[in-house]
Amino acid sequence: MAAAVPTITLNNGVEIPQLGFGVYQVPPEKTAETVTTALEVGYRHIDTAEMYGNEKGVGEAVARSGIDRGEIFVTSKLNNGFHRRDDALRAFDQTLADLGFDYLDLFLIHWPLPGIDVDFVETWKALEEIYAGGRCKAIGVSNFQAHHLRRLFDETEIKPAVNQIEVHPFLAQDDLRAFNGEHEIITEAWSPIAQGKVLDDPAIVAIAERLGRTPAQVVLRWHIERGDVVFPKSSSRERMAENFALFDFELETGDLAMLTGLDRGERTGPDPDRFNYIP
Ligand code: NAD
Repeated sequence: MAAAVPTITLNNGVEIPQLGFGVYQVPPEKTAETVTTALEVGYRHIDTAEMYGNEKGVGEAVARSGIDRGEIFVTSKLNNGFHRRDDALRAFDQTLADLGFDYLDLFLIHWPLPGIDVDFVETWKALEEIYAGGRCKAIGVSNFQAHHLRRLFDETEIKPAVNQIEVHPFLAQDDLRAFNGEHEIITEAWSPIAQGKVLDDPAIVAIAERLGRTPAQVVLRWHIERGDVVFPKSSSRERMAENFALFDFELETGDLAMLTGLDRGERTGPDPDRFNYIP
């Protein structure tokens, strides 16, 4: 039996499991089966998005699992075409309907889209309304830079509970993570193993060999020890289990700094200051 996943308390008191399972690029027709396997392995936190097209599969797996809804933390995200208030409210209803849930644990603005003609402050106010309605336990943002967050602090009521951003050893994001932390916003690290790109790095391989672990476990453990929330994606049961076995070992002195020192500002995904894509 794997050691228990710790939880982190969000700024409104809600508890989130620090390790979850991400379903980006899991094909819709395979999602129910993949999430069923993840739940069998032990994951109790699933990260999806309307943009991924697979919310129905996530909901199906949760329903079929027989596990209490209250024991599974599910996050979804507002898609880019729905930033206007009325569209955001409707999109949230659609997300709940597709998941087959009567509440969501965490709902995020997926991207700030600073170049479109809808101000993300309007979008955030819509999420505040959704939160006030009681069908979502926490609200947050994704891909927000410090300057986007400052506008929310100045112009709206509720602080985001999380900021989900790209973080891995090639993009350590220490400034933005520190900024999140100063404002009681939990950092969630997306693409935590850079979609596999960091796993051949000789420094990471060397630490893994010394600890008798895999490179993926070493990198995921680095995130955990830095206090971020992670949800690696995998399609195979073996890798899901490998990525879940993070709580029966620790990095050694110097390993944390060594991994952070690999930072080279390298994104695998878009730059949030330039990304304005609407599907
Ligand atoms: P990831 O860093 O989790 O890497 C996933 C890929 O790495 C898999 O496809 C697999 O090929 C490989 N892999 C997984 N485990 C492995 C292992 N143990 N050994 C070797 N290779 C392994 O990348 P991701 O899926 O992009 O990110 C994780 C989650 O983050 C997503 O599923 C999604 O939920 C979220 N995400 C959010 C955003 C956003 O804009 N908010 C963007 C991207 C991803």
